Parts: sequence; C-alpha cells; structure tokens
Amino acid sequence: MSLSFQIIPSATPRSASERESILANPGFGQHFTDHMVAIDWTAEKGWHDAQVRAYGPLTLDPASAVLHYAQEIFEGLKAFRHADGSIWSFRPEANGERLQRSARRLALPELAVDDFVESIRQIVKIDAAWVPSGGESSLYLRPFMIANENFLGVRSAQKVAYYVIASPAGAYFKGGVKPVAIWLSREYSRAGRGGTGAAKCGGNYASSLLPQKEAVANGCSQVLFLDSQEGRWLEELGGMNVFLVKRDGSVITPELSGSILEGITRLSVIQLLKDRGVSIVERRIDVQEWIDGVASGDIVETFACGTAASISPIGQLKGPDFSVGNLEAPAGELTMSIRAELLDIQYGRTPDRHGWLTRLV
Ligand SMILES: *Cc1c(COP(=O)(O)O)cnc(C)c1O
Repeated sequence: MSLSFQIIPSATPRSASERESILANPGFGQHFTDHMVAIDWTAEKGWHDAQVRAYGPLTLDPASAVLHYAQEIFEGLKAFRHADGSIWSFRPEANGERLQRSARRLALPELAVDDFVESIRQIVKIDAAWVPSGGESSLYLRPFMIANENFLGVRSAQKVAYYVIASPAGAYFKGGVKPVAIWLSREYSRAGRGGTGAAKCGGNYASSLLPQKEAVANGCSQVLFLDSQEGRWLEELGGMNVFLVKRDGSVITPELSGSILEGITRLSVIQLLKDRGVSIVERRIDVQEWIDGVASGDIVETFACGTAASISPIGQLKGPDFSVGNLEAPAGELTMSIRAELLDIQYGRTPDRHGWLTRLV
C-alpha cells in the first residue's frame, strides 16, 4: 500500500534569517521546522488523508484515549547532510519495522514501511533548509502515533493518528566527547516480563523519569536498569543500549530479553564489530560482572549507544553504596573508533558497504 501525500505549505514559515539563527545553535528538541506530516487512521477506512502541513498544535478532545491510557508509540531517527549538500537517513526501514512491532504490542494499527519512509522523505523534502550542516549536527525526526478516539472505555482505539515532526539538532557533546556517569537503579526497573520494554512507547519513558531524577540528583546523566525479576541482569539505559569491552579485546552486550529495546545503533555497532573481526557476544550480563570487571581491569571500556547521542562513553557507574570507574580518564579507544566509523558512514565520509543510507533529498 502506498499513500499519496497532500502538500499544504505553511503560510507563515520562518524567515531565512530566523532559521539561520536557530541553526547556528539548535540544541536538542527545542526548535521545530515549519511543517509536519499527519496521517489519519480509522478502523473502517484504514490509513487515509496523508498530509504535509504547517507545524502547529493538535486539537484533542479531553476524552481522547491517548490522554488516559497512554496508547502511544514513537520513533527517533536522523537526517544527515553530506558534504555535497545531499540529505540522507540511516536505516529508516529498520525504524519503520520497529514502529510496526511497537504498534502490534500497543494494539495500534501498523503503517506500511514504505509509507513510513515516504513520510520521512516528505518532511525532509519540504523542510530541507532546516537540515544543518557541519560538525555532528543533523535533523532529528520524531514520528509518533496516538490513539485519538474520544472514548473512556478501555479497549484499543478505533481512531488513530500518525505524525512526524522534525527538530534541528546540534552536536550532542558540545566541545568534544566526554565520558558520562551512570546511576545504577536497584529500586526501579524500566520494564517487566511480558510488558512493553521492547516497544518504543511513551509509557516506558514515563516510568523512567523518577529514577532519572534520582540519577541527576546523584551527579549522573542517565540510569542503568536491571531486569525486573532478579534485579541482577543488565538491561539498558532509559534510552540507550550498553556495551562492555573486555581486556582481551572482546565485546559483550546484553542479549535481547523481551524487555530490552532493540536499538538500531546497537544492531549497527554489532555489525561493525563483526566486520572488524572483533568477538561480540550477546548474552546475559550480571551487573556484578561490570562492577568487579572495572575494579579488576577485566573490563576496560563501557559505552552506551542510541540515535540521539550516537555512541557515548561511560566513565563511571555509581549506586547508593559504590562507584567504579574514573570520569576523568579519556574515552576508550575502541569506543571512539567505532563512534567515528558510524558517524563517517552516516555523514557519507566512508563507503556505505552495508547499504544503510537512504537518500532523501
Ligand atoms: C530508542 C531507544 C534506544 C536506542 O535505539 P536506537 O534505534 O539506537 O536509537 C534504546 N533504548 C530505548 C529504551 C529506546 O527507547
């Protein structure tokens, strides 16, 4: 199925000078482009009325299901400007497939992957001038889907909307990559067995905000969550997957447990490590293996990965009663070289040997 998009250009786009001043220092998730994509779905008609229109507020009835039962999913991906001015996205079909998996878990309708990719192309095409160039800047794309039927009964909605908004993003690490400190949450978990941990849904984030506050209060930037049953096995950060590099050069990462979100950056890092002949093992990892390994020198680097920050070295792991690692030590060598390789592919500075890039403009 392929939708056709009606294009209604904004009557009040920002001036070139306003745009340039935003692009000079975009930050993250604070400024939005002039347009958005909107597609409606009903049980009778399926997906219909695909539009590209001016960015602006949504009108929701107070009884809209999403406001009560959090029937919502989202995606996150980036558009990268290459040196020749062309604009590309990274593995967008993988995001489209993941949105379908999230939709199934949240009892939302699936959007065809080609319609998903086309929705990305449409917004980037009309707002191409908003894709920054230089450094590690990009246009962050946020597709999301909400249940907007006006009904307080508890069942999956018969009326749904899908949107894409776009936000210029500067380099995640201003002034160079710096290792971060991570807070180990023993009290809270992110997702439970049979829950929604493998789906990208707002509800997972809602439950991570309290431990996230605790992390910040303890001088850490993010939370490391363990499995909810034994409180022992590494899962992931609130929005990033984790990898550990051992002294013998091998790499380990938690295997997908059903409650871990399968990051596309994670998948790509695994592939790049395999390409280098590095031993990369997906398995259960006891958090004690991390703590003891850093202390003994058996674990020499740890990093987190996700679309927003790409790859982020972890300098320190802290809990209420312990702390391992040294925040002042420079980021690990393998961490930084995998990071550089991934960014070189995304920005078109090195051959895209896996066919991961899709040209948008
Ligand atoms: C989005 C997300 C990630 C990272 O996924 P990428 O596709 O690499 O951006 C990891 N964990 C959670 C919980 C996420 O929501």
